[in-house]
Amino acid sequence: MSIPLNAGLSARNIIFKKSARRLLKTCTSDSSQIVRCLSTENARHKDIPQYDVVIVGGGIVGMATAQELIMRHPNLKLAVVEKENELAAHQSGHNSGVIHAGIYYVPGSLKAKLCVKGLEMTYKYCDKHQIPYKKCGKGLKAIHSPHTGIIDWGLVTKFYGKEFENRGGKVYTNFEVNKFSIKAESSEGNKEGLSHPVQIESSDQNSVVNCKYVVTCGGLHSDRIAEKSGCEPEPKIVSFRGEYLLLSPEKSNMVNGNIYPVPDSRFPFLGVHFTPRMDGSVWLGPNAVLAFKREGYGYFQISPTDLFDSLSFRGLRKLAFKYFAYGVKEMYKGVYIRAQVKQLQKFVPSLQFKDVMRGPSGVRAQALDREGNLVDDFIFDSGTGELANRILHVRNAPSPAATSSLAIAEMIADKAEKQFEI
Ligand SMILES: Cc1cc2nc3c(=O)[nH]c(=O)nc-3n(C[C@H](O)[C@H](O)[C@H](O)COP(=O)(O)OP(=O)(O)OC[C@H]3O[C@@H](n4cnc5c(N)ncnc54)[C@H](O)[C@@H]3O)c2cc1C
Repeated sequence: MSIPLNAGLSARNIIFKKSARRLLKTCTSDSSQIVRCLSTENARHKDIPQYDVVIVGGGIVGMATAQELIMRHPNLKLAVVEKENELAAHQSGHNSGVIHAGIYYVPGSLKAKLCVKGLEMTYKYCDKHQIPYKKCGKGLKAIHSPHTGIIDWGLVTKFYGKEFENRGGKVYTNFEVNKFSIKAESSEGNKEGLSHPVQIESSDQNSVVNCKYVVTCGGLHSDRIAEKSGCEPEPKIVSFRGEYLLLSPEKSNMVNGNIYPVPDSRFPFLGVHFTPRMDGSVWLGPNAVLAFKREGYGYFQISPTDLFDSLSFRGLRKLAFKYFAYGVKEMYKGVYIRAQVKQLQKFVPSLQFKDVMRGPSGVRAQALDREGNLVDDFIFDSGTGELANRILHVRNAPSPAATSSLAIAEMIADKAEKQFEI
């Protein structure tokens, strides 16, 4: 049995912070509420929701892309499918919350251009939608960057989602994509199936949507999603956990802007820094240690499958060999806070061990090739075979993809328009 798209939808408010609740009310549809108990074999094709384009992944890149596509093509029927029960559940909701000014990146590089453009677009977007941010600047050795700001990127993602829904887009949560396939004709033998031939099924086999085209922005799972439509397994995503310390509230006035080290150009990580947060707290970090699970936020969150997958990957072994001492040092500092504090004292000498406590963490999707090189470019893929013309995978959107999200979305939309001829 299948249930049509609009049958008995109960709207569900996304949960987010109190301060923002007044500003933003949005709805997502829990996929289990809409296409329940669907046996794909027996489903009548016309009962399956149909879209022109489906975007997989409700992080900031997926939502910015969805918003950009619906603004450009208001007549297209668009949907987003997200495996968690809310948007921004992973990288986009677990990061430093900095609006980067792009001063680290090679001048003229795509990453630098997108960052600077993304920063300008972000400030404009936030002013228009009254999303709170602070332009508190950043200090790095003798350099001061006045344009750097702080923001809650999870909240921004949810605003993109709201804008998308306001323009007629549909967001399905609890929909973990497991399979893409091409359906040449509907089971009833009419031609309807030919117009929306791509079928996307969920892991629990309870949900299914049909569409003409797919764009995937799967963050920590982008390689696995790409493989599902026949793409190569590499570049592979290896997940690195970034742990933060929290500055005690009495000492928070020690820091009123971002304080950053000069980054080591061999790594995409910017190094531990002091970051004031929108709620007045101050985070110190993050470090970078191998996560034992793709979305493992603590030392005890372990997935044997993910761990085996990482450790058996030649690229990670090569990377570990190259940077063994660095890796061990990062882990040591993660376990022994005193060592981390010692490093932070280089920037704020008055910082004491008693001023800090363990804080939250985030997990970064780091694309790696089989020679152990960290991939720092955008990687798009479509693979080969029947699905190739209908699917665009964003396999790597290098950090700071939150700051650059609106600019990245323009680039992805341009690519999708060209590839799908929409
Ligand atoms: C510790 C840390 C600090 C950072 N600090 C900053 C910063 O200060 N400023 C900045 O600009 N950037 C920062 N970044 C980078 C930034 O957060 C990321 O580049 C950005 O959030 C990536 O967004 P995304 O949409 O690609 O990925 P994600 O936010 O991870 O979204 C991917 C989504 O896809 C979903 N998904 C995965 N598989 C499936 C599936 N099979 N079916 C359906 N859905 C699926 C996931 O659940 C997830 O919601 C930081 C990152 C980290 C980890």
